[in-house]
Amino acid sequence: MNTQIETLLSAQQIATRVAELAAEINKDYAGKDILLVGTLKGAYIFLADLSRYLPERTQIDFLKVSSYGDSTSPETAVQFDQHPTIDLKNKHVLLVEDIVDTGHTLAFLRKYLHTKNPASLRVCALLDKPSRREANLDPIEYLGFSIPDKFVIGYGLDYAQCYRNLPYIGVLQS
Ligand code: 5GP
Repeated sequence: MNTQIETLLSAQQIATRVAELAAEINKDYAGKDILLVGTLKGAYIFLADLSRYLPERTQIDFLKVSSYGDSTSPETAVQFDQHPTIDLKNKHVLLVEDIVDTGHTLAFLRKYLHTKNPASLRVCALLDKPSRREANLDPIEYLGFSIPDKFVIGYGLDYAQCYRNLPYIGVLQS
């Protein structure tokens, strides 16, 4: 196999930023228990790394959604493949996202998670592609990196279900 991958963010850059985000989160949530809700599959590595900096009473859950590009209304085209299993009511929910692109997934998830009556709801996203935004989004409370409009892989992100296990984030060269 002769795949060319250009590194966009090295493992070291990611590790440094994850530690910084965790420090911010720990400061903001001091004295509160956090429920991390990660979006599958893309956020699994980010959540795993981030969670190891958080207090031991941190709870972990996941959800999975998929979207259908052929709908006329992109936001309603997002559907659940897996709901969270922990009751979110009165919890300090921190949604952990891999990447925000058009923003339709995040808009859908914020609306959905609010209906579960959490004590608070914030978002921690590793990557954002602001130039691709279509949805009208609230600001992302904790953001790792803003990146250009390129399709990225690695550190949880896939192309055709491969490359998630790369320790860095890269761009496939065609
Ligand atoms: P949005 O609803 O914001 O357009 O899409 C978010 C989802 O699209 C992400 O959770 C991810 O699954 C996928 N996505 C968007 N951009 C990329 C990318 O550059 N690389 C990969 N692997 N997935 C992406």
